[in-house]
Amino acid sequence: MTRPAIAHIRLDAFRHNYRVAKQRYGGKAMAVIKANAYGHGAVHCAKSLKNEADGFAVACLEEALQLREAGIAEPILLLEGFFDAAELAEIVANDLWIVIHAQWQIDIFLAAKLTQALQVWLKMDSGMHRVGLSPSEYVRAYTCLKAHKNVAKIVLMTHFANADNLSSAHTLQQVDIFQDTIHDLTKLAKLETSLANSAAILGWQKIRPLADIENHWSRPGIMLYGANPIIQASADDLLQPVMQLNARIISIRYIKKGQGIGYGSLFTAERDATVGVVACGYADGYPRSAKTGTPMAVEGRMTRLLGRVSMDMLFVDLTDIPTAGVGSQVELWGKQVSANAVAASAGTIAYELFCNVKRVHFQYFDPSNI
Ligand SMILES: *Cc1c(COP(=O)(O)O)cnc(C)c1O
Repeated sequence: MTRPAIAHIRLDAFRHNYRVAKQRYGGKAMAVIKANAYGHGAVHCAKSLKNEADGFAVACLEEALQLREAGIAEPILLLEGFFDAAELAEIVANDLWIVIHAQWQIDIFLAAKLTQALQVWLKMDSGMHRVGLSPSEYVRAYTCLKAHKNVAKIVLMTHFANADNLSSAHTLQQVDIFQDTIHDLTKLAKLETSLANSAAILGWQKIRPLADIENHWSRPGIMLYGANPIIQASADDLLQPVMQLNARIISIRYIKKGQGIGYGSLFTAERDATVGVVACGYADGYPRSAKTGTPMAVEGRMTRLLGRVSMDMLFVDLTDIPTAGVGSQVELWGKQVSANAVAASAGTIAYELFCNVKRVHFQYFDPSNI
């Protein structure tokens, strides 16, 4: 028997969530599948949206080439564009779209001899202060690019820093700065824009650029994988979880009151306890920082993590689940146990949990392909 730790990936749920993003926001939606689709498998996810996605966004050329080699023909956007001039030939050869976020990229791009013009997404720093041209440089950069033979279409883009927090005014400020900056350009031509990430799609529909939604590209990421990034979100079934991380119990221990378990004896039994040892650890991506009490489910019943997570194993409380034994199924996160709840207990976010999943077997399920 191979090690019983499996990430089940529901591609029908992924497709469902993409449709939710498009329905809620309108316009076009660039499915963000960087970092191997947040750990879910970029090629599988992209293929499940064949002839449906308006495009895919990734972080770098290597990620885009993996998709092209797998036969993905939809538009692919490089979210940080190129990192040096040497990448440009392959970007052209593979018909990729690029974000330009800094003056050094403009200098290299306009000096390059390209065999074909590229579509550029010109990124403005409207308040996140990570990457992007400042509003004061933006229009000049646009005008300069627009006039150049290396540039096909330009999409005007910015990214939100606080859209996951519905009580922050920052998102509206960013929209104002963006709109004020591009105001004069909108008089010259019909422009394509791109603002909304998952949090904006789910939480800030009122800032939807209504007048021009057909020319807006949203960029849903985490919501495609079924996790709602809004801090104030209550549990709802709008989104379907895509990954279910399962493992099995490989040993049962009966712990006397006062005895400790695992490294550091971090958990000490407050009463006689039945503890299951589960074949999943931090080397599989389960967070070592998760605390006693982190939710998990055994054979469909909710229970909790106990003690210190080790590299290959962790402990689950079976005291109130007497029917569980060696071989019982444990859900670390998925349908019953929300990844957001596990993340909160580990002091992180679902994004990081998903990206970290490794070593386990991946099993893909897509009912439309059966
Ligand atoms: C990762 C990323 C997204 C997707 O963000 P989510 O919060 O996962 O929806 C959108 N836009 C840019 C520029 C990104 O880097």
